[in-house]
Amino acid sequence: MSTPVEQKISHAAPELLYETARKKLYELEDLMSFYRSSSQVSLLNESAEKTEVPLSEELLFVLGKAQEHAQFSRGAFSIMLAPLVQLWKLSCAENKVPTHEAIAATLPLCDGDNLQLQRASKTAALKKEGCKIDLGAIGKGYAADVCCDIYQSMGASSAFINLGGNVKALGSRPDGDPWLVGLQHPDKPRGVCFAALQCSNQSVVTSGAYERYQEIDGVRYHHILDGETGYPAKTELKSVTVISSSSLEADALSTAAFVLGLDEGLSLIKESDCHGAVFFTSQNEIYLTKGIKRQVILTESFACYEA
Ligand code: AMP
Ligand code: MG
Repeated sequence: MSTPVEQKISHAAPELLYETARKKLYELEDLMSFYRSSSQVSLLNESAEKTEVPLSEELLFVLGKAQEHAQFSRGAFSIMLAPLVQLWKLSCAENKVPTHEAIAATLPLCDGDNLQLQRASKTAALKKEGCKIDLGAIGKGYAADVCCDIYQSMGASSAFINLGGNVKALGSRPDGDPWLVGLQHPDKPRGVCFAALQCSNQSVVTSGAYERYQEIDGVRYHHILDGETGYPAKTELKSVTVISSSSLEADALSTAAFVLGLDEGLSLIKESDCHGAVFFTSQNEIYLTKGIKRQVILTESFACYEA
């Protein structure tokens, strides 16, 4: 998953739990990687149009959840944007912005209806040549959920996993205090936080323009795309952090809310089952959804609103 993974496990034999989760993470990478040609995601992506590809229960589950979140966010979150993600990656590698024509030609491949799941036969098919899926905005969340399930099923009641900033806490810390998750300041060096979030049995996931971007001719192009325009999402936000019992949900919702921007993003979070969100705006203001203020400790003084 191209990311460092940190596991903290309170247990009499933590090595066994650590090793089981580590193996599972490699298994999930083999299943969901966009870049490994042998992964099931790649087999689906490389299949000819309308060919049914057999998939594991696990991948079908993730794809089903991805479709639910695409529908719920009215397409702001969409695993079908893979052809567009590729177009931007390839162009940026040459220090170029894709042409309007190339973007317009790619957008029809990104329609959500182009993925058909057949639960009865446990298969999936992509309807058009060139359609692809990319689980980059949901896979780490799912993996964090799976690892916490492993810790719990092996007898741990206190554990913590951090998959490159995608965090999930099982229970509280061994001393009974809540886990503390630092929220990266979007403009400051890695490790400098604008807040700490107290959490127990919760996942904390952030999407932000600062995470990955490229500057071309003095303009910053970040990695979270708007499927309506085909361009990086134009938003007044620097980051969105979502808190939920499900890391998969927090991962999908943070990407979607970032694309939607402050007002629509706040509405989406309120409509959802998640516990709340922290929005960091381009004006360095902070918006908290009602009910999570007591979990948030700001590290400096910000204009902070409850919405
Ligand atoms: P995240 O950091 O979870 O917000 O995910 C961003 C990654 O997901 C990007 O690097 C792309 O691979 C992919 N992606 C970009 N835009 C979207 C989007 N609107 N919906 C779903 N996945 C996306
Ligand atoms: Mg995400």
